[in-house]
Amino acid sequence: MTGYAAPIRRLIDELSRLPGIGEKTATRLAVHILRAPDEEALHLAESIREVKAKIRFCSRCFNLAEKDLCGICMDDGRDHDVICVVEDPDALVAIEESGSFRGAYHVLHGVLSPADGIGPEKLRIGELLKRVDERGVREVVLATNPNVQGESTALLIMKLLGRRPVNVTRIAMGIPVGGDLKYVDKMTMAKAMEFRRST
Ligand code: ZN
Repeated sequence: MTGYAAPIRRLIDELSRLPGIGEKTATRLAVHILRAPDEEALHLAESIREVKAKIRFCSRCFNLAEKDLCGICMDDGRDHDVICVVEDPDALVAIEESGSFRGAYHVLHGVLSPADGIGPEKLRIGELLKRVDERGVREVVLATNPNVQGESTALLIMKLLGRRPVNVTRIAMGIPVGGDLKYVDKMTMAKAMEFRRST
């Protein structure tokens, strides 16, 4: 697309790299930002800078955190001997919002995807096994998405945990096959967690 001054073109390019944002939406957003009061546009820029400067991964569960440990890992009111394994922080937020789980989490930051060169070593699986070995974890709830990659990731973790004295469960599938936890409504998520089954 031509006709835009270089700085606007650059903004459109950057915005269109965001997931789910096509060229058209990126252009609309760029024009909106251009027309917005200076203060509003600078707040947006500042919040992007701040999130990159201040947010890191929790050293225990790899959730997003402001300190060494995330808010959930630091919460004494939760059951840290039950660990729910999720693909990404979005799924964690979806489960939290359902209010159905009071344990701890482990964020893998991806799923097995041989076609994309993502093997177990690229996920936080080693750290999960270490957590299970180091503290008396009672239950590991596998809450990867109900699609091929999510299932194969769950299967691998099941296998790796196999000989350890821990109860491994999988969330129940009220969640449509091929679906994504972050788009599941709260009630379905709560039921999936409540009716999780042993593997
Ligand atoms: Zn944490």
